[in-house]
Amino acid sequence: MSKDCLFCRIVAKEIPAKIVHEDEQAIAFDDINPQAPTHILVVPRRHIPSLNELAAKDAGLIGHLHLVAAQLARQRGIAESGYRVVLNTGRGAGQSVFHLHLHLLGGRGMRWPPG
Ligand code: AMP
Ligand code: ZN
Repeated sequence: MSKDCLFCRIVAKEIPAKIVHEDEQAIAFDDINPQAPTHILVVPRRHIPSLNELAAKDAGLIGHLHLVAAQLARQRGIAESGYRVVLNTGRGAGQSVFHLHLHLLGGRGMRWPPG
């Protein structure tokens, strides 16, 4: 746990969030500034700053985060209409919180390429 990390503090329940999933490895909560009707963040409990710091031993964990995203997409009824899973890495790509997280976005049409 990093004291200065917003998502570590949400994982520790020091900062409130609308939590929609919790398990041993991950939690998921609504994004505070949603960019789509469904906008959920899927976050490992362990502090990993970004994909750049992911180790080979974390292969199962990163897979698990995707399985949680797919399960939540089914629960929200967007699995068939389509959804996007985004993992911003580095400031140039729009990463603003340096605790690894997947964005699950859906419930509206999506354009490609992203901006
Ligand atoms: P990124 O820009 O990829 O690092 O994503 C960070 C996301 O965290 C943004 O979509 C923010 O809206 C979201 N966010 C920031 N603070 C909070 C918070 N306290 N609770 C929930 N989501 C947050
Ligand atoms: Zn953290």
